Formats: sequence, C-alpha cells, structure tokens
Amino acid sequence: MAGQVSSLGTVLCVLTGASRGFGKSLAWELCSRVMPGSMLLLVSRTEEAMRGLAEELTLKHPGIGVRWVAADLGTADGLKKTVQAAQEVPGQDTVQKILIINNAGSLGDISKSFVDITDPAEVDSYFSLNVSSALCLTSSLLKTYQRRPGLQRLVINISSLAAVKPFKSWSLYCAGKAARVMMFRVLAEEETDLRVLNYGPGPLDTDMQAQVRAQTADPDLRLQFINMKNSGQLIDSRVSARKLLDVIQADAYQSGANVDFYE
Ligand code: NDP
Repeated sequence: MAGQVSSLGTVLCVLTGASRGFGKSLAWELCSRVMPGSMLLLVSRTEEAMRGLAEELTLKHPGIGVRWVAADLGTADGLKKTVQAAQEVPGQDTVQKILIINNAGSLGDISKSFVDITDPAEVDSYFSLNVSSALCLTSSLLKTYQRRPGLQRLVINISSLAAVKPFKSWSLYCAGKAARVMMFRVLAEEETDLRVLNYGPGPLDTDMQAQVRAQTADPDLRLQFINMKNSGQLIDSRVSARKLLDVIQADAYQSGANVDFYE
C-alpha cells in the first residue's frame, strides 16, 4: 500500500486488458488504494508484459498478491483459462470487495465503412471479444465469487462515448460498446446486491488512439483525433484511472449508471 488513500479495503480484482494502456494504469492506481491482503488477477494475451507489470507492482506493493493469466478472451479456451485462474486466486473468503473490471477491448477494422463489412466471421470474431466475453466472463466470475455477508461485489464496464454517439467507420466498435452498456444495465436490474458501473474513460493517449489516428477510414474523424493528439487534448490514462477509482470509492452512483470522465 502506498500514498494517502487506502479506503477500498481488501479487494480481489480481476482486470482484463491489463498488459498496457488504461488497464495497466488501473492496475497501478488500484494497488495504491487497497489494503495488504488484496489480490489482483491481470488478464491479456501478452504474458511478458503482465509478468513485468506483476514484478513491478509486487516490488512497490509487497502486501498485494499479483497474478496473471495469458488468454485470448475472444476464444472459448481463453475464457475458460481465465475463469480457472480466477478460481485459484486465494483470499476469496476473506476480502471485503470483489472487483471485476471489463476493460479489454479492440476497435475492429476501422479502415472499413459499414458497406465494406460483408464477412460475418469478421463480425462474429469482433463481438466474441468485445461483447460475448464481457458477458460470459462476468457471469462466470459472479458464480465463482458468490455473495456472502460483508462482501461487496462490483462490476465495471469500460465504456465509451461511442456507446451513445455514432462515429463514421467505427460501426463495430460503436455497436459493441452500446451492447455492453445495455447488458450491464440489465445485470444491475437483475442482481440488486451488485454495484454495477459503466465508465467512459475519455479519449486516452494509448495504443488504441494511435490506431484511431492511423486507420480511421473517415478522413474528418481521423483529422479530429490527430488534432486532439497534437493539441494535447488526450487524457493521461493514470488520470482517468484515478477518476474511476474515486467514483468507485465515493460509492454514490446508481447501480447500472453511466459515468463519464468529464462528468
Ligand atoms: P489498448 O489497445 O491500449 O489496450 C487494449 C487492452 O486489451 C490490452 O491490454 C490488450 O492486451 C487487451 N486485449 C485486446 N485484445 C484482447 C484479447 N483478444 N484477449 C485479451 N485481451 C485483449 O486500449 P486502451 O487501453 O486505450 O483501451 C482500454 C479500454 O478503454 C477499451 O475497452 C477501450 O474501448 C476503452 N476506451 C478507450 C478509449 C481511448 O481513447 N483509448 C476511449 C474510450 C474507451 P493484449 O494485446 O496483450 O492482449
């Protein structure tokens, strides 16, 4: 534990998309706000990056157990492997909070417009990672980490402005983000003991943004994001991660709500 804030208590967190970008920043910020005895399970495809991150986190926060699982969440095998790793994380019966953060995501082929997307296999593959895995991983983890007295369970969906606003040449991304928000709103209605939050992190200076600038088919949109980068309007992932953890910690949102970085 480091820094002045530690009021998240003892937490078991499963964090997808932890190898880089926003997920990596979340891992760092989270570790500075939890009590010793907390556990963090990192999930992504890139083992090397997670091993390095786990080593650095453990050095800085020796009281926190950091594990990782290298898995492609777009596949059934990857999901199974992740759930298995989650079942093996110690401390499930003693932590005060379970935190499931659905952060992994992809843009899809944004060099294509709607009328160029004709291959159903491409679409299925996109939704496997960006919609199906968020649903099936969350449901499996909620079965793994069952409710018990004194335990608070939180489910976070990393969303986007694209869930509500159409962006030219991002049809898969927009549709996936919209579907996720609705899915998690339904979860909040069904499981009233959970705390469910959809969080839009704002435009972040990550690899995903570099892909936006390089590949967005629509020239106006591409230019808009190039200008944002050049004029310093992209948000540092650590700043947005802090905002998300502030919202979680304040615990004042309605379950199922959407909260944006700029709110
Ligand atoms: P990055 O592209 O930088 O990172 C994506 C993360 O997801 C990586 O850790 C990557 O790990 C993981 N990932 C991708 N594909 C898979 C897969 N098949 N299986 C497992 N893990 C996978 O993205 P950001 O950090 O920018 O974005 C994080 C989240 O925030 C996303 O959901 C994104 O949609 C959202 N967001 C981002 C914004 C931005 O401006 N960047 C704006 C609004 C929302 P690996 O490649 O190692 O598997």
